[in-house]
Formats: sequence, C-alpha cells, structure tokens
Amino acid sequence: MSIVAHDPTQSLMDITARPDAVFVRGDGSWLTDHRGRRHLDFVQGWAVNTLGHCPPQIAHTLAEQAAKLITPSPAFYNEPSLQLAGLLTRHSCFDRVFFCNSGGEANEGAIKLARKWGALRKDGAYGIITFGDGFHGRTLATMSASGKAGWDALFEPKVPGFAKARLNDIASVEALIDGNTVAVMLEPVQGEAGVVPATPGFLRELRTLTRKRGLLLIFDEIQTGMGRSGALFAYQHFGVEPDIMTLGKGIGGGVPLAALLAKETVSCFAHGDQGGTFNGNPLMAAVGVTVMQTLLAPGFLDQVRATGKHLSRRLAALAAETGMHGERGLGLLRALMLRSSDAPAIVEAARQLQPVGLLLNAPRPHLLRFMPALTVTTAEIDRMVELLREALAVVAAAAPSRAA
Ligand SMILES: *Cc1c(COP(=O)(O)O)cnc(C)c1O
Repeated sequence: MSIVAHDPTQSLMDITARPDAVFVRGDGSWLTDHRGRRHLDFVQGWAVNTLGHCPPQIAHTLAEQAAKLITPSPAFYNEPSLQLAGLLTRHSCFDRVFFCNSGGEANEGAIKLARKWGALRKDGAYGIITFGDGFHGRTLATMSASGKAGWDALFEPKVPGFAKARLNDIASVEALIDGNTVAVMLEPVQGEAGVVPATPGFLRELRTLTRKRGLLLIFDEIQTGMGRSGALFAYQHFGVEPDIMTLGKGIGGGVPLAALLAKETVSCFAHGDQGGTFNGNPLMAAVGVTVMQTLLAPGFLDQVRATGKHLSRRLAALAAETGMHGERGLGLLRALMLRSSDAPAIVEAARQLQPVGLLLNAPRPHLLRFMPALTVTTAEIDRMVELLREALAVVAAAAPSRAA
C-alpha cells in the first residue's frame, strides 16, 4: 500500500496549489462544492465552458452520441467529425481541419505543419518567430514557443527554432527573420500574459510582412476563438487572415477537443506525418458540433458582444471608482488592471466570501482576468461586480496600506 493512501488528495501529483474544496456540481455560471457552498464562476475551466456548466444541450449530445458510437478509430471516418470539420471550414477562411484533444497538441500540430511546409517549400527552413509573454501550451515544443517568464530555464534542452519578438513591434519581428525562418506565430490577444491585445495595425503589418517574405502566419486562437472575442474567431476583428489557426478550450464547451486549421495550400501533411489515437473521436466531435451550432444561432454572438460591453463598462466604472488603472480585452475575455500586486489575495478573498464565493483568475500579480460563460447574463455580471467589491474591501481591510 502506498504510504500516502490515507488522504486521497495526496494521491494526485501536486502540480498546483488547490483550495480545499471539491467541486461536485455545475449549473450555468454556478459551481457547487462538497460542502454545498455555491460559487459564481468567472473562470469557467479557464475560458473553456463556452455555454456554462453542464448545459442541457451538451449533456444531451454526450448521452445520445455515447449510446451510438464512441470511437471507431481515427483511421476511419465518423459523422460528427465530418460535420464539425464542415462547420469550421464553412464559417472560417480555412479549408482543412485536423482534430486533437488539447490546445498544446493543436499547437504542436501547427508547428509540425509549418516545419513540413518549410521542408517542402523553403529549403528546410524551420524557425518560427514567437513572442515574449506568449503562451502556447505545456508540451516541450509549445513551452519552447511560449515566452512565459521563468520557463526559459525549465526542462532543458529546449526545442530549438523559436526566436522571440515583441508584441506590437513590427521591427522586432523583421529583425529576427533570416533564411531559416518559416513562420510567425502568435495569440491575437495574449491570454495568459494578462489579456494583452495585438493592435489591428500590428497584425496588418505582420500579414503584409509575412506575405512579402514568404512566411506563414499562425494564429493561436485557443483562448480567443469560438465566440469569446464577440466574433466567431478573433482574426475576424482585425481584417487579417492567417494561414494556420489553432482552436482549443471553448470548442469543446468543457470536453477535451481542439483543432488545427489550415488553408489548402499549406495543408501539406503526408500520410503518417500526423495522427493520434483519440483524434476526431465522435463523442467529443459531436459536442463540438453542438457548441458550433449554438454559437451560429441567430443572435448568439450579438448577445456575447452585448454582455462583453456590459462587463467592460462595469469593470471600467469599478476601476475609476477605486483608482485602478482600468480594464481591457475583447468580448468576454477581459482584465482589470490593479495598482497593486494584490490580485492573488483578491482571488482568495473572493473565493472565501460568504454565503457565496466568487471564482476569478489572476494571471499576473497586478491583474484579474474574467472569462465567464458566453451565456453569462447581465444580472450575473452585476452580481460578480458586487462580490468583487466585497473581496476588494476584505483585502483592503487586511492590508490598509495597500490600495487595490
Ligand atoms: C490554454 C492555451 C493553450 C494550451 O491549451 P491546453 O489545452 O492547455 O493544452 C495554448 N494556447 C493558448 C493561447 C491557450 O490559452
């Protein structure tokens, strides 16, 4: 018997500090723990639960598909994956889709596809220019592609070929291009960095530059895609079409599903280059179809834009009133910029509020991130702001010298 078997939490690898609540139930914007305490959830599995917790249409799709067909093999066609691929290509600028199970895996696929294209079309060029503070996942290659502080020294040696430019600085990109460069890869809004949007001008310059130099442009829309920005995909806000795009998080509405999308001319994998046991399995793909159909229903994205505006207005007002720096973001991916480094303390105070808690995320010490369900109501946003105000008061009372 294991020496730590007495406490079930000790059987999990201790990869992050977790609160002592065990979550047992979810319903829309609410999560309930094992003590029956309710929490208003503005994290939603990290911008994953597009339609909130346990939406009836996803529960129904899962039950129906589970009774029909779960996994034939990725080497056979199945109906839901064909249907989802068709929906994605009809409603985007891309022609081909490869399904996978996580964002990191989708980005690995994007990196492989760019390197394959470089091998075929650019004399073996494999260098991909990525950005400081960017986040692309936790596999070895995607950690190398990421510009997250502190990661440069982890799990050496790095996968080579990821020079880092500065977001919104076209000269920093141009300076890194050499004969070995094959692509530029970025998040249109850097999520983990603290909801930092690329400027429309920068993305247009980047498209022009990559065209001129014969490079691929790759958008990681794992956090910004699937309606979160108020458009189906964030690239649509900027009037810029990338050659490759990755999706994850919201596409599965809570189940593990991700996708790599490419234009026909770039879609150059040969048989055997790419695959995976669970890729495109009908159980997950069927959920993706349900999510897409919901996003495409008349009025749904209008609603996301309206609630996004409401959240933005409420956060801006709170910032003005409490002397914070302000708020930023696109649609329902937003951040509040504090004047102090109290964000982790605010997250903790918010979680412990009575009688109901509030779940928030602090990707940086001076910044709170908001990524509610796309179905969040204005009343729930107002309630969140009330709870946040209470949490700010708790933190201010504990450390009166530090203003929020
Ligand atoms: C979350 C995220 C990833 C990684 O996705 P996983 O599903 O955690 O592997 C990659 N890129 C961006 C922009 C993300 O937000």
